[in-house]
Amino acid sequence: MATADGRGMAAPLQFENVSHAYGQITSVQNINLTVERGEFVALIGPSGSGKSTLIKMAAGLEQPTSGYVAINGQRMQNRLGQTAYMPQSDALLPWRTVLENVMLGAEINGNRRRETRNRARDMLAQFGLGGFEAMYPSQLSGGMRQRAAFLRTFMMERPLVLLDEPLGALDAITRAEIQDWLLGVWEHFSYTVVMVTHDVQEAVYMADRVVVLSARPGQIVTVAPVALSRPRDRATPTLYEQAAALTAAITG
Ligand code: ADP
Ligand code: MG
Repeated sequence: MATADGRGMAAPLQFENVSHAYGQITSVQNINLTVERGEFVALIGPSGSGKSTLIKMAAGLEQPTSGYVAINGQRMQNRLGQTAYMPQSDALLPWRTVLENVMLGAEINGNRRRETRNRARDMLAQFGLGGFEAMYPSQLSGGMRQRAAFLRTFMMERPLVLLDEPLGALDAITRAEIQDWLLGVWEHFSYTVVMVTHDVQEAVYMADRVVVLSARPGQIVTVAPVALSRPRDRATPTLYEQAAALTAAITG
């Protein structure tokens, strides 16, 4: 909804000349990036290039040493709770059932338990996990566990979703399935997604734009729009060519 001052159109996430350091170690430097509403942005770069740090800054778990992070056009110091954030090593709690795990994100938000439970039940069905509510994570397949972990993130009900290497632990076939499933969720709910991945083909297959970071201190090497219509075909030569070009950009 646009307003006279244009604030209603403000980008969900903006890095304005952001640098960050852990003590003496500069992790990222001079990052300028605007993520548009409804966009799917993939973040790639060598290990240690500051991908997780950027995601943590967006989530409010780290603060820039200089520059600003803006959410919906507002430069906010306290961004906690503004986004749905899925950490790099997200694991379901083994002693909680699927339903209880999924409820966790909303509980952290302070939502009422009964409402959360009802919504979680509805969402589990939508996410293809109906009938598994009372099971424990160890009783599910890897793909189902991952869908439950996503659902827990989406239960935070934030339109800006930050995913840090969410598909890393899956085998290739499950991974392809979950990629498509995640794209379906993204389209259905009109979320804005920023996803870190170390898989360049995955980035090109899924994203509207691919942001490539340099080795530490991480700087943006290139921001590559993916000019492929959706739904995409994994076997498109253009996809391979763009992935190869981006891999060359990373390895230099
Ligand atoms: P990536 O996710 O791209 O692998 P990170 O954002 O995790 O990179 O880390 C960026 C750099 O900052 C790395 O070189 C890492 O060693 C360093 N780093 C990350 N977390 C800490 C920390 N808590 N203290 C000190 N250095 C850190
Ligand atoms: Mg990381």
